[in-house]
Amino acid sequence: MSLAGVVCAQGVWKVDEIDGVDYVKLSDVWRFYRFTPKKGRPGCISYGGGKHVVSIKAGQHDFYVNNFRYVLSHPVRELGQELMISSVDMRKLVDPVLRPRFSPENKLRTVVLDPGHGGHDAGAVSAYAKEKDLNLAVARKLRRMLEQQGYRVVMTRDADYFLTLQQRVAIANSVPDSIFVSIHHNSGRKGASGIETFTLAPQGTTSPFARSRRNAELAGNHQDSENIALATAVHSRAIRSSGAIDRGIQRARFSVLCTIQRPAILFEGGFVSNPVECQKMVTGQYQRILAHSICQGIIAYNNTVCRPARRIAKTPAVGASSRVRTSMSGASVGAYSRSK
Ligand SMILES: [Zn+2]
Repeated sequence: MSLAGVVCAQGVWKVDEIDGVDYVKLSDVWRFYRFTPKKGRPGCISYGGGKHVVSIKAGQHDFYVNNFRYVLSHPVRELGQELMISSVDMRKLVDPVLRPRFSPENKLRTVVLDPGHGGHDAGAVSAYAKEKDLNLAVARKLRRMLEQQGYRVVMTRDADYFLTLQQRVAIANSVPDSIFVSIHHNSGRKGASGIETFTLAPQGTTSPFARSRRNAELAGNHQDSENIALATAVHSRAIRSSGAIDRGIQRARFSVLCTIQRPAILFEGGFVSNPVECQKMVTGQYQRILAHSICQGIIAYNNTVCRPARRIAKTPAVGASSRVRTSMSGASVGAYSRSK
């Protein structure tokens, strides 16, 4: 373990390296957000303030905000008496989630919907459904809802045919002022169920559970903050309205997310391999619940990071420039929420 920290003039954010990863003290993080101890998830340490309660546990990748699960790129660690969170999670997850920011650079007019698989590629298959059909059914319902809200919608496929991942990415990257929403359903071990939402792993990280760090050097897509804001807005609404198990907002380096030049998420709406869940997923009613929550999430994302909504225009919890410079690595905190 080596000291790799930067001590700033005011409010010290010392960075400690643990197993090659930079970490900061959670006590500094709580102080920065003016969080105080709260009652949160059982068995977790919880802090909060304003409308947020955050729960974490030493040794775990889980990071709960208002009881919605996020999966950290690196586990929370203990160092002496202190709990530590990685700098990259602090910059790319914690801050953008706690303080999503409006940016005039973000414009959203078009939603590119990508129903996963198609044609000879059925995706997950069970006795009850083929994933490709469920993906398309949800996407079609979502398209109608988004169009009613005034968005332009581009579908990577609108029928049962095959597209390569590169073709999907090419469509997304050719549409300016857009976001990319890829819709999938899962398959997994017996009994696995629930919804999970993926965004691209931030620069320098790979999937938290990847067996190799082969892709660790890969860049983010310069939209890390927008990605997590979009994932948060969609995922929290989908969990709330479906009642499905919350498998979390996760980071991955799926091919389809790696080369997208737009804010992008990959939404997994439930398990084809789970008979109970899949029998719900084939119903129009459940598909409408998923589509509606994704639509509402996109609207909320747009209001938060693409339009100067009143809520965002307020001074952030810690906004004075003298204080902002006290952040870790000497970078301004403003830079946490913008991927520079
Ligand atoms: Zn799939």
